[in-house]
Amino acid sequence: MKNLARIGYKVVDQLLPGKALFQLESCSFDEVTHQITLIATSTKTVAQCPLCQKLNHRIHSRYERKLTDLPWANYSVTLQLRVRKFFCINALCKRRIFTERLGGVSAPWARKTLRLTEKLTAIGLALGGNAGVHLSQNLGFVVSRNTLLQMVRRIPLPSVSTPVTLGVDDFAFRKHHTYGTILVDLEQSRPIALLKDRESETLSAWLQAHPGVKMVSRDRSKAYEKGIRQGAPQAIQVADRFHLLQNLFQTLEQVFGTHALARKSCGKTSL
Ligand SMILES: [Zn+2]
Repeated sequence: MKNLARIGYKVVDQLLPGKALFQLESCSFDEVTHQITLIATSTKTVAQCPLCQKLNHRIHSRYERKLTDLPWANYSVTLQLRVRKFFCINALCKRRIFTERLGGVSAPWARKTLRLTEKLTAIGLALGGNAGVHLSQNLGFVVSRNTLLQMVRRIPLPSVSTPVTLGVDDFAFRKHHTYGTILVDLEQSRPIALLKDRESETLSAWLQAHPGVKMVSRDRSKAYEKGIRQGAPQAIQVADRFHLLQNLFQTLEQVFGTHALARKSCGKTSL
């Protein structure tokens, strides 16, 4: 039996996130609320000041952090971590006291572990708010729609370089109500920026802040034409394929319409 308990302890210890940083003290199961609580203590002897990066060993105080972790079967898992605050001994540093960082386990002041946050972010990104909450509940994650959407918004954007060929078009934040401008790198076929409105000044400011655009494909908007002329006067402006086809369609419609009218009036005359 003792052997079994030792194996169980080892399994739980292995499942603890950041197990190199903590020592597992105890583990409790609540069969009524389906809750597992793991109590662990930080074992680091030094902590790095987040401001000056100096390593410090002078402890200021101890406190507890509660983090929700990935569920285990149909049990919710809470980590109760005993961590510390340290003094920064660097006389030139503005930070006097700091909390030890739990790299790889949780972001500072977060209430979820990183690995739980990663799963929820992936769900939010794939399904959005309401559907994401529905699937999360099915998987045993307790999360609200707003939290899921906040997680998606926090995903860092990939760095983008200014394209040589830029596509400019409008898009709806809310159809028939609020419109903005989408900028697309036409060589990579990738959206690179969303502007808050469709004003020439906004587009001009973006182009001035991102020099190097040589060709801009746009619709027939006068505001875009003006914004490009002011923000990137050297750039060649061309109509995009959609609007060229739209122009062609409207012209052909007009021509065929005129011919149809002419034929009708000829027919009436001959009668
Ligand atoms: Zn410091």
